Amino acid sequence: MSKKKILIRGAGVAGLWQALMLARRGHDVTVAERTAAPFAGACSAYAGGMLAPYCEEESAEPLIRDLGLRSIALWREAYPQTQAAGSLIVTQPRDRRELDRYARMTEGHERINGNRVGDLEPELADRFSVALYYAQEAHVVPGPALDFLVEAARGAGADLRFGEEAVDTKPDWTIDCRGLAARDALPELRGVRGERLLIRTEEVRLERPVRLLHPRFPIYVVPWDDNVFMVGATQIESEEAGAVSVRSALELLSTAYALHPAFGEAEIVEFGAGVRPAFPDNLPRVVVNGREIYVNGLFRHGFLLAPALAELVAAHVDEGASHPEVFVEDRLER
Ligand SMILES: Cc1cc2nc3c(=O)[nH]c(=O)nc-3n(C[C@H](O)[C@H](O)[C@H](O)COP(=O)(O)OP(=O)(O)OC[C@H]3O[C@@H](n4cnc5c(N)ncnc54)[C@H](O)[C@@H]3O)c2cc1C
Repeated sequence: MSKKKILIRGAGVAGLWQALMLARRGHDVTVAERTAAPFAGACSAYAGGMLAPYCEEESAEPLIRDLGLRSIALWREAYPQTQAAGSLIVTQPRDRRELDRYARMTEGHERINGNRVGDLEPELADRFSVALYYAQEAHVVPGPALDFLVEAARGAGADLRFGEEAVDTKPDWTIDCRGLAARDALPELRGVRGERLLIRTEEVRLERPVRLLHPRFPIYVVPWDDNVFMVGATQIESEEAGAVSVRSALELLSTAYALHPAFGEAEIVEFGAGVRPAFPDNLPRVVVNGREIYVNGLFRHGFLLAPALAELVAAHVDEGASHPEVFVEDRLER
């Protein structure tokens, strides 16, 4: 394997994992990120940080599960703060059929009773008499995890430049991870808005993400650091980032409250909405155009897929390897 000069465009979770993986393999990596402040223009800043390959099977292809399981191993190897505590799905008694449906649509879970729910999450004892427990799932707290990726990539020798769009390094390979901004080259990309809120309370302790099912859409609560919980997320065909609608805020807040009434006393830290980059089939793609590679369409799975996609791209750069389910050859003039 010979050392290659590689330019990565975009420092969201996708670009940073590419940088880390390729720098650790000994390549000469430069990252050009448009915004001067890290993550100021990144969808990655809005994520919950769930690594939930089995839960996602409910609405995604097996490919997401398989890449996601590999990613969890890579997160755990690289980032010791990865929380490998699994995740829980709960429901109100009136929505029990939803839980049955979810169980049929997904693998990797065990059906547990109320006592076991209480063992895993004492704060939820007596609140839910049945749940699905996905022991192999994991989560990261996105802010610290992204900061870690920046430092780890730099530590591996990558040159990360914030506030620089064009870096003239005459690269052997360019890896484009610009998220939705890459639509100039990938016209099929669309944005899918996701709203979320952050709340803080010392009254509730959770070890793992918990999803509360209800017939319209599942809402989850992810425990972050410092008593902060992320409550998310909507999925709306719109490209407006920023503000959260009253309706969505009500739904997110009432879900948190339904999960545990003590969330009613929590402090609201932040409302916000990010826009997920997605292809029409909501599957990720590695588009190869000669020495230009586009890694995009991570949709609601950026943290879940970025490490595995970085590994596949590195194998392509080093050995010409390809993965037919993800790689697309594209000979368009750009
Ligand atoms: C509310 C919400 C919750 C989510 N929860 C989860 C979750 O729990 N788990 C999960 O796996 N995923 C989750 N996601 C999805 C995840 O956030 C995205 O899939 C992921 O952030 C996409 O990452 P990316 O690196 O492709 O794009 P981005 O994070 O958008 O990064 C693209 C970067 O490219 C930069 N850029 C743009 N143009 C240029 C240019 N010309 N030159 C240089 N740089 C440029 C941008 O500034 C940006 O920093 C969630 C998303 C939302 C909105």
